[in-house]
Amino acid sequence: MDINTVELVKKHNFRFSKSLGQNFLVDQSVLNDIVQGAEISEEDHVIEIGPGVGTLTKELLKKAKKVTAIELDSDLIPILTEELGQDEKFTLIHKDALKVDFNELITEGESVKLVANLPYYVTTPIIATLLNEGYDFKSLTIMIQKEVAERINANPSTKEYGALSLLVQYYCNSEVIRKVAPSSFMPRPKVDSIVIRLDKLPKPKVQVKDEKLFFRVIRESFNMRRKTLSNALKSLKLPKEVLDNAFENSNIDSRRRGETLSIEEFAVLSNHIYEGIKLI
Ligand code: SAM
Repeated sequence: MDINTVELVKKHNFRFSKSLGQNFLVDQSVLNDIVQGAEISEEDHVIEIGPGVGTLTKELLKKAKKVTAIELDSDLIPILTEELGQDEKFTLIHKDALKVDFNELITEGESVKLVANLPYYVTTPIIATLLNEGYDFKSLTIMIQKEVAERINANPSTKEYGALSLLVQYYCNSEVIRKVAPSSFMPRPKVDSIVIRLDKLPKPKVQVKDEKLFFRVIRESFNMRRKTLSNALKSLKLPKEVLDNAFENSNIDSRRRGETLSIEEFAVLSNHIYEGIKLI
């Protein structure tokens, strides 16, 4: 029989590190729902970020073709090696997930799914890196803070809507799998959590001529949320007529605030700015 998180923590006399976002799952129903929600099959290479003592990893190994786990904490490496090292389907990488080149882990043509109970202190940079680098993941099934899930799924003109909403909605469809209460973890976090699956779209949601510029326009528009677009986008340091023409050609009132623009409007606006820059 599998031994559970509490027993593993005791057996190895493991000391939790707050700064590494270590809240381990102790609730079997959540583990089951993550594995089921991730729709893992025998074809899949699962990449897990932050395996902890390997409780979720063990469940993933039962379903997947292979599991590659990336763990930063040196204290967890011998524990994971002892508990899971015998399994031929298991590979452990001792590294900061933000410094991993995932292309080195992925073989062309294989079906790769990322699964993680993410350390909350790096949730947004990890999501941003995984999406921006264009890695060939089919989906990302991740446990995140409830507030982050709300930002991901937010619509224009809400206070949750921002650069993260647009980044994720540009690349993915999302589906909330379930809510998770603090009591499902040890130690208990102070916040509620959500398991969400982000399915990569075959092509981005909107067509943009220059992705870097599109995301820069978005970033600047939200940098000072209370500013009008014409004020916020001054930071792009473009000739006034480039911006004026872009607003006019996009049919977007420059007195609007960035937070009111849909993803389609950001695409049209940044495409017109791109055209204007080309003419300078
Ligand atoms: N998967 C386990 C579970 O569900 O019980 C543990 C999840 S815990 C929320 C987050 C894990 O990520 C911890 O094991 C922590 O050491 C690891 N971690 C923290 N920062 C990391 C980083 N930058 N790269 C890789 N792993 C990291």
